[in-house]
Amino acid sequence: MSNGIHPKSKARSDRAFVTLATNPDYVTGAGALFRSLKRTGTAADLVMLYTDLPPAEVAAMQALDVRMVQVDLLPTSDQFNALHARDRIHGNAPFTKGEKPPFHTPLDNFAKLRLWQLDYDRVVFIDADAIVLQNIDRLFDYPEFSAAPNVYESMADFHRLNSGVFTARPSAATFDDMLLRLDQPGAFWRRTDQTFLESYFPNWHGLPVFDNMLQYVWFNMPELWRWTDIRILHFQYEKPWQDHAKADKLRPLIDLWRAHAGDGPVPDLRELANPA
Ligand code: UDP
Ligand code: MN
Repeated sequence: MSNGIHPKSKARSDRAFVTLATNPDYVTGAGALFRSLKRTGTAADLVMLYTDLPPAEVAAMQALDVRMVQVDLLPTSDQFNALHARDRIHGNAPFTKGEKPPFHTPLDNFAKLRLWQLDYDRVVFIDADAIVLQNIDRLFDYPEFSAAPNVYESMADFHRLNSGVFTARPSAATFDDMLLRLDQPGAFWRRTDQTFLESYFPNWHGLPVFDNMLQYVWFNMPELWRWTDIRILHFQYEKPWQDHAKADKLRPLIDLWRAHAGDGPVPDLRELANPA
């Protein structure tokens, strides 16, 4: 019997940075994320959860030394799937603050929870639309469950967490318990895994905002922006590999993402802070 998780190789460490990509667009993001993580010199495993991808995409990630772990979407009920269908979420709980790309499928987000099935002691999950600018190995010392605030518009949002970066301790018992809580009759998680995790871990620990700096802070809350302090930069809403309406406003951030996505050198954060 399958438990829904199919690693393509063995673990090499007891800790891992994990991301999720259910389609080639997010693989593009994950490529930049993993390249940026390698630049930090971490010794933790780099892991990608994926559903189905062309073999060439899998091979390209393996060439980057990424451990590929194929997963099934969660075995959620038909009612749950209907309530969290893309058109329904985007229609009934519309995103008024930014645009979600066409390749974003809300139901796929829940597959993140499969990381609790992994064979690691400690995991740090990072969304595929983020890059890591400085070593973040210290995050493995934070307890489950730690996340940074969902701040990109106002200080009031310090009460909310953003599920683009979080710490976890894989455990089959936790995973089974989460599935039970997730798919109760009529359960609707308006912002998918983010709303669920906030409810499942009501006493979540706070990470510094610099461990998950959201791109909109750049133009909405510039007083919070300090290049040399930012450790993880997260491109929530529009993605840096898309052509999109806010691209001009976000140009320095997109240029930095592009540098990390490539093989060449990346700019020093001090240079970004003090442009010549
Ligand atoms: N994701 C995915 N496929 C999808 C939607 C999401 O693989 O169709 C994964 C991917 O790792 C992505 C994360 O789930 O980074 C959360 O989605 P996204 O980053 O687009 O949400 P946002 O940060 O804009 O709220
Ligand atoms: Mn994201």
